[in-house]
Amino acid sequence: MKEILDPICDMIVDIEEARDAGLTLEMPDREYAFCAAGCQTTFAKAPRSYVAKVDAWVAAQAK
Ligand SMILES: [Zn+2]
Repeated sequence: MKEILDPICDMIVDIEEARDAGLTLEMPDREYAFCAAGCQTTFAKAPRSYVAKVDAWVAAQAK
């Protein structure tokens, strides 16, 4: 997977670029990436609120 949904603001984020910028979070299920520190912080406070949204996005990409 090269890109992933930033579930906070609905932007599609390049995982490599986010990693370089320190805007990723490693979770047990997958690596999450964000457009900015604000979105990363929001996600980190309540990751469970957003996991389903990213799951749905990833499933849609696979089709
Ligand atoms: Zn964002």
